[in-house]
Amino acid sequence: MATSATSPHAPGFPAEGRCGYYVEKKKRFCRMVVAAGKRFCGEHAGAAEEEDARKRILCPLDPKHTVYEDQLAKHLKKCNSREKPKPDFYIQDINAGLRDETEIPEQLA
Ligand SMILES: [Zn+2]
Ligand SMILES: [Zn+2]
Repeated sequence: MATSATSPHAPGFPAEGRCGYYVEKKKRFCRMVVAAGKRFCGEHAGAAEEEDARKRILCPLDPKHTVYEDQLAKHLKKCNSREKPKPDFYIQDINAGLRDETEIPEQLA
């Protein structure tokens, strides 16, 4: 079997064969022994892999909520905190008035 003696690791990465999940409460990596080829122990595998793949960041428009970094551009287009060009009730008001005055039938072929 091939043993990768020099596998690339990020700076501060824990010992090889140990869980690489950073435990914020402890201010260190988990360091549990992991199965061959795995980066995280059973306890952290799910959470860590999700975190690793998708990083959540604070929304630049409203730091009260977070958004996946890879979805930021998408989120900015529909974020509740972004400036709205026109208030919704304004458009609704026009429609209501128009309908009331002219009495347009529902189906007009
Ligand atoms: Zn762990
Ligand atoms: Zn937002």
